[in-house]
Amino acid sequence: MIPITDVRFEGNELEYVSECIKTGWVSSLGKYVQQFEEQFSRYCGAKHGVSASNGTTALHLALETLGIGPGDEVIVPTLTFVATANVVIYAGARPVFVDSEAETWNLDPAQLEAKITERTKAIIPVHIYGHPADMDPIMEIARRHNLYVIEDAAEAHGALYKGRRVGALADMSSFSFYGNKIITTGEGGMILTDNAEWDERARWLRDHGMSKTKRYWHSVVGYNYRLTNLQAALGVAQLERIDRIIEIKRQHAALYNELLRGVPHVTLPPEADWAQNVYWMYSILIEDGYGLSRDGFMAALKERGIDSRPFFYPIHTMPPYVQYAEGQEFPVAAELSRKGVNLPSSPTLTPEQIRLISDTIKELGR
Ligand SMILES: *Cc1c(COP(=O)(O)O)cnc(C)c1O
Repeated sequence: MIPITDVRFEGNELEYVSECIKTGWVSSLGKYVQQFEEQFSRYCGAKHGVSASNGTTALHLALETLGIGPGDEVIVPTLTFVATANVVIYAGARPVFVDSEAETWNLDPAQLEAKITERTKAIIPVHIYGHPADMDPIMEIARRHNLYVIEDAAEAHGALYKGRRVGALADMSSFSFYGNKIITTGEGGMILTDNAEWDERARWLRDHGMSKTKRYWHSVVGYNYRLTNLQAALGVAQLERIDRIIEIKRQHAALYNELLRGVPHVTLPPEADWAQNVYWMYSILIEDGYGLSRDGFMAALKERGIDSRPFFYPIHTMPPYVQYAEGQEFPVAAELSRKGVNLPSSPTLTPEQIRLISDTIKELGR
């Protein structure tokens, strides 16, 4: 079976992790945590990085750092991984869903303003499957209404928006280093910001909110959301290879595009002229005229030894979230979710495998 993702540690991962074990620095103290935070934030062009135990806790920490809580509303796209909305609920606030735009599959800036109320505090655009959201109009609207913007960049490490890396385009950003993300620490996450006060507050909340001057004194209910030195060691080694990983993913996408261009009823992934997609997941849409339904297509791929994944369900359609979107419609997200497929996207794919997958897609559509 050709897997959807796969990870191979071909750099200094074993050496750095071994060093943690040999020296005993396996918990959240140790040089790699700081090194990973400094190097990853610099890579993205942000001043501060606060690592976290995963991408979800990082996003939650960002909301808590900004003081978002009960009575507040946070705008999120409905077509994203569920964590983007869950953290809003963890914070006691209310998620407000927005439809996607057909061009980039991301939150549609044109529909944003209609969702803003006097309770709105923040917007969380997501760079879905590796393609940046259109940040300029989002930031312009947010500034006009005095709202925070947190990029959910969990799927888009290294992607470019108008020549700038994602993660430093808003007030804060959040990344995931889960096993299938662009780079991984096994589990792990990070928030980035240029704001020194938020950096300090996030570190404090991440470590149980313990007083810096009075040990075991807590003036807030904090969290243990720390990344370990072992995980950070993996991250430092992965970061040494991030440019190469992205280059390979983009080469793979170019080959898929070349082979699949012109195949009837198959829509290729977006790349706006202002964007550089990192193709976290190389994704296509199976349009209605294709020989098989989307699910039939995925089953046929599986029979031929090719794994794939359906797009996310729009969050507002799932039981715990229906209450947040009564009577609202999200036609673009619904259509994308119904037609979308993630194809094998591992950096370990070979050109022969991409040819085989593409030939299979052509043949199945006949
Ligand atoms: C992976 C992901 C997350 C959560 O990251 P974890 O490390 O799995 O907690 C959040 N948002 C998006 C869009 C993701 O893809």
